[in-house]
Amino acid sequence: MRDIYWYLAQGRHDPHHPQQKQAHPYDFVSLSGQVQRAPIAALTHDHKNPEGLDGALECQIVLLSPLHIGSGIYAFAHDCGFQEQGVVQGIARDQHGPIIPGSSLKGSIRATYEAITQSCVRCYKSSYTIQWHKERNRSKLPQHLISHIRQDSGNMKLMPIFPQKYNQCRHTHEATHVALCPACSLFGAMGWLGRVSFFDGVIQEEKTKNKGPIFIPTLQSPQAHRIARKCLISGTQGTLEGLEGRKFYYHSSKTRGNCPWDYVEYGSIFQAKIQFHNLLPPELGTLFIAMGIQEPSHPILLGGGKTIGFGRVRMELMRMSFVQSITMWNDSCQEFVGTALDQEIKKYKALYYQGWNAAYIDGLKQYRTIVNEAVGQAYK
Ligand SMILES: [Zn+2]
Repeated sequence: MRDIYWYLAQGRHDPHHPQQKQAHPYDFVSLSGQVQRAPIAALTHDHKNPEGLDGALECQIVLLSPLHIGSGIYAFAHDCGFQEQGVVQGIARDQHGPIIPGSSLKGSIRATYEAITQSCVRCYKSSYTIQWHKERNRSKLPQHLISHIRQDSGNMKLMPIFPQKYNQCRHTHEATHVALCPACSLFGAMGWLGRVSFFDGVIQEEKTKNKGPIFIPTLQSPQAHRIARKCLISGTQGTLEGLEGRKFYYHSSKTRGNCPWDYVEYGSIFQAKIQFHNLLPPELGTLFIAMGIQEPSHPILLGGGKTIGFGRVRMELMRMSFVQSITMWNDSCQEFVGTALDQEIKKYKALYYQGWNAAYIDGLKQYRTIVNEAVGQAYK
């Protein structure tokens, strides 16, 4: 998390001041200091590790705030179940109702998994193009960074600079001893198929929405200079140095705006299924922790509008099945529900804390502190 003493010593705003928190409702899980890359030879898809676990998880996803996973298209308000006329920003649906696309679920759980393990860094773009303007209100960059430029406005290209050790993992089939970080090894990397698959979450119980859509403010593009301590500019290019880490949002406030959004009301419940293949026991435990399963729990963040408190969900595990192999599903399947399932979850989660070399326990503490921090008038 950001070090307020450093900010104060530099004469900058305290990022943890209530006003700053309201304006910029997020903080960062610091990078882990090192990346734990391990050979994946024993985990290839056609080669079963003797310890490897195959099976499936059945989960419930309970919405703690409204959810908006954008479909990218406009929809008629009436078709989305509203009584009012007009068009709204649509959400992902199938013929039965709203869905949580497996890719969204995977992306969110992966982001948390990366933050709580010693994983490589995928959360930065190679460069950010930022609009600046000499009028303060129209600029995405602070005035002191652009004071040397003669023009009134323009675009600035900012490149994040971080130590090479954090570079994204890559898997090439020519290489013999490929080593991947915990997150890439589990969720996939360039050229390497992950060992967990996420199916679309389907609606199980939908709470009644308001008569009309939620009006949200136009969401601003991220202010890239805030992800690093230093933004060094030369001409119309710059670098971001001293990157703060992986960004997660506080439990922040509702605000009203002019953009009509379709959404799923909080309290609604989805069902989701996850399949896994060749998972090592500590990996399964860490997956449970990333998902926030069992106390001490935490929400995960899905979809759009995170800056206004949307998309906070709690995951609950309802059933776990182990099979001999994913290709022999009917063959001696072992199922856990209820108390037996609780015991299993505890057993696997303990492996994360008990000296697994890829764990980043301080990252988990920081993640929980950030996502549980309530700012302003938060949902429930
Ligand atoms: Zn990686």
